[in-house]
Amino acid sequence: MSAGVLYVVATPIGNLSDASPRSLEALRAADLIACEDTRVTRTLLARYGITTRLVALHEHNERAVSERLLDALRNGQSLALVSDAGTPAVSDPGAWLVDQAHHAGIRVSPIPGPSAASAAYSASGFDSVQYLFIGFLPAAGSARRKALEALHLPWPLVIYEAPHRVLKTIEDLAEQFGAQRQIAIARELTKKFEEVVRLPLGEARAWIEADAHRQQGEFVLVVAPGARKAEATVDPDAVLEALLETLAPSEAAKLAARITGLPKNALYRKALARRK
Ligand code: SAM
Repeated sequence: MSAGVLYVVATPIGNLSDASPRSLEALRAADLIACEDTRVTRTLLARYGITTRLVALHEHNERAVSERLLDALRNGQSLALVSDAGTPAVSDPGAWLVDQAHHAGIRVSPIPGPSAASAAYSASGFDSVQYLFIGFLPAAGSARRKALEALHLPWPLVIYEAPHRVLKTIEDLAEQFGAQRQIAIARELTKKFEEVVRLPLGEARAWIEADAHRQQGEFVLVVAPGARKAEATVDPDAVLEALLETLAPSEAAKLAARITGLPKNALYRKALARRK
């Protein structure tokens, strides 16, 4: 008996009409659908009259359930993998099962479609050959700020964020990249109250606070690329290191900020860390 196929199926990120004909065909034809929350996937299936059996596969049971699903695939059954919204394994469960399928020699076939990251990036207007998909930053403030320090890059950054953390993250972004850097905020994409705005980071907080609804819903933040010039010509760490040989951290950070164009606060924190 030949092995079945693992279809990795993208589903809508809000508007159920975004389900592609091919994704619906795959969900209808599969022997089983592995999904995160069966209630969420049932809503999509009900809309299109699909009755395929569901199996819950989420971050807490992914490894155990994957073993059973791999057995089914080896026995010739075909499986569709979906997540609650968007593309599976993109900041969502699924990568473990896909990895194991490759190891087992099972054919893996993507059915492409919606993803909040590509939807937000496409609407950002930041013109770049590359962009960096960050997904979720660390939830804890200090870890998040540290992660951002490593992201002074000449590419747009695509960040997923939860509504209750969006203001804090925007403040951290403004501190790290400066108030003038542009950000695109994509909120509730494809849904009734969708909003996409582009503005300087220094104005983003006021924009969110201008409407109580704007601290709810789902967000993707796309940060404009950093300047290439500073990165190509000076190494901020080396500049700081040299200045710290003779100057106090606050003075060194002030001068390093003038030389590199990077925010003073971030350099000051680096200077303090180096002094320890
Ligand atoms: N796998 C999904 C994808 O391909 O887009 C992402 C799943 S991740 C767990 C959920 C995050 O995606 C949300 O916290 C939000 O940052 C973003 N997101 C999902 N749907 C969205 C929407 N309709 N509008 C804006 N952001 C969305």
